[in-house]
Amino acid sequence: MPTRRDFLSTAAAAGAASLLPRDAAAAPAALPSAGTRRARPVVVGSSNGIRGVKLAYDRIAAGDDTLDAIIAGVNITELDPDDQSVGLGGLPNAEGVVQLDASCMHGPTRRAGAVGCLEDIATPSLVAKAVMDYTDHVMLVGEGARKFAIEMGFKPQDLLTERSRQDWLRWKSRLNANDAYLDHDADVAIKFTTGTINMNAVNAGGDISSVTTTSGMAWKVPGRVGDSPIVGAGQYCDNLVGAAGSTGRGEANIKVCGAFLTVEFMRQGLAPAQAALKTLERIVAMTEARLLDARGRPRFDIQFYAVAKDGRYGGATLVDGASFAVCDERGPRLEKCVALYQRG
Ligand code: ASP
Repeated sequence: MPTRRDFLSTAAAAGAASLLPRDAAAAPAALPSAGTRRARPVVVGSSNGIRGVKLAYDRIAAGDDTLDAIIAGVNITELDPDDQSVGLGGLPNAEGVVQLDASCMHGPTRRAGAVGCLEDIATPSLVAKAVMDYTDHVMLVGEGARKFAIEMGFKPQDLLTERSRQDWLRWKSRLNANDAYLDHDADVAIKFTTGTINMNAVNAGGDISSVTTTSGMAWKVPGRVGDSPIVGAGQYCDNLVGAAGSTGRGEANIKVCGAFLTVEFMRQGLAPAQAALKTLERIVAMTEARLLDARGRPRFDIQFYAVAKDGRYGGATLVDGASFAVCDERGPRLEKCVALYQRG
């Protein structure tokens, strides 16, 4: 395993201009797979990761590490200025500042890394992996995370695109003396917009990884951290069982440790989609009254995506209609999530 000093001198030699300073060769060697069974390789994630699941699957088929492959998959969207849910171009907080969250887990080596409230770096998924690879910690936040990333060779840049700045101005212009963060009724689309990518993969050897990256809830209180960088909520991976991750209202997920819970339900024998559905039931049971409608259904949406060690996979959503991205030997496609509630 290269030391952090090795990494820094490589990064310096490569020039600090690289957005993606690490390469797979620099990754610490994986421990032998904990698994014995052969698996069906598959990559599963949120629907906005449709381009990424194909790239990740192809890389896994070519022999890449599962975590490097899925991080390369989410990097596509993190670096896309037209996508307003993650990375460059993500919607900002209440002060117009883009603050990003991400976390990842590497099954074979049982390691995790995370960043919260990271500013100026377009690829928080890679910074989370750098925390995992080069520190004795699991999570860095705020200015410390930013300093660490720059020290590791990531290039700082202004992540607020003109389109996201205009949306933020539009949101601000609708604020009035009566507005409060808990006012969810008026113009929800402008008030709270969300978006995230989660991706999970298993390879033919049964090794598993997971990653989640986001710009979080739009117009959030500066400093707000959602579920995405919380290991066990935004994503979780156990190389003996499977992996899971989430998109949607992070505040609801954090309270049930949803990704961890989904993996635990799989450990107890449930198939991935059923495990994810059972986690959604727990979320409903833990939802405070102000967020329930007249029928007792949550007024927010949330999804879970899961993959089992043998390659079975699934996605679940609260309200029917959501899909998830999957890529296996049949190619990339969107499949329907199982739902707790029918629409209407
Ligand atoms: N889960 C993300 C968060 O709460 C947002 C989203 O997925 O839409 O930060």
